[in-house]
Amino acid sequence: MTRTRFAPSPNGSLHLGHAYAAIVAHDLAHERGGEFLVRIEDIDGARSRQELAEEALKDLAWLGLAWDGPVRIQSRNVTAHVAAGERLKAMGLLYPCRCTRAEIAANATRMGPDGPVYPGTCNHRALDPEGAAWRIDMEAAISRAGPLTWEDGRAGVQLADPAPYGDVVLLRKDLPGSYHLAATLDDAADGITLVTRGMDLFGASHIHRLLQALLALPVPTWHHHPLLVEPDGRKLAKRRGSPSLADRRRAGEDGPALAAALRAHAFPAGLSLGEGVA
Ligand code: GLU
Repeated sequence: MTRTRFAPSPNGSLHLGHAYAAIVAHDLAHERGGEFLVRIEDIDGARSRQELAEEALKDLAWLGLAWDGPVRIQSRNVTAHVAAGERLKAMGLLYPCRCTRAEIAANATRMGPDGPVYPGTCNHRALDPEGAAWRIDMEAAISRAGPLTWEDGRAGVQLADPAPYGDVVLLRKDLPGSYHLAATLDDAADGITLVTRGMDLFGASHIHRLLQALLALPVPTWHHHPLLVEPDGRKLAKRRGSPSLADRRRAGEDGPALAAALRAHAFPAGLSLGEGVA
C-alpha cells in the first residue's frame, strides 16, 4: 500500500508552497488507494513552536486535506534517532567535530550543493566528544554501503551520489539528531513507501538513501515535485510578503476552492511551478 506524508517544520507559517506540497502528497496517496500521513518535524526545539504546529493542522483541514491516523510528532522519536546515531558511531562512521561555521568557510576547498563542503578537519583527531557535533565520514560510509540507486517518480532511477555533500552533520551539537537522520528514520518507522517533497530536497535523498543502506532500513520511492516560484523565478518565501495560509483562512478565503485552483495549476499572484533544484 502506498503511504505518503507531509512533514512541515513548525518554525514558520505555512504558505502556498506548503499547500501545494501537501496536496501532491495527499493526492498521490489517494490516487493509489493509499494513506496520507502528517508528521510535525519539531526536533529543533529552539525554532519550533507548538502554536505553529497547531496552525499547520488547521490549515490542512481548511484546505480539505484529511490525514490518516494520528499526527506524528518527530520530537517523540529522539530516542530512536540517538540509538541510530550510536549504531553509526559503533560502525566507526561518525566523528566528533567542533569547527565553527566561520572556520569551515575559511578552510573549505570546494563548494557543495548546500554551501562550503566540510574539509574533514576533525576527522582522525580523537576529539573529546562532549558537546560536539557528529559528522559522517562520507568516503568511509560510501565505501561501506557500496553502489546504491534510488527511484524518483518524475526523474527516474538515480545513482545515489552523496559524495558532493561531504561529511555532513548527523548529530547536531544542540540536538540529539539532525534533519537527515530524523527524516530517514521516521519515514521508515512510519512505513512511508513514497517520500514526497519539493525539488529543493532532491539532493538530500542521496544522503537518505545512504543512511537507509547503513541502517538496514526499507527503501521507499520518492516523488520530488517542482516548487512554486514567484514571478521573478525565486522560490516563494513568506518574508517576501505573500500571505500565509493562516492569513487566508482568517480572512475567510474558501480553502477547498484554493486547493482546487492549486490542483488545476491556476496559481494565485503570478506564481508558477519552477524546478528549483537546489
Ligand atoms: N520538514 C522539512 C521542511 O519543512 C521537510 C522534510 C521532508 O519532506 O523530508 O522543509
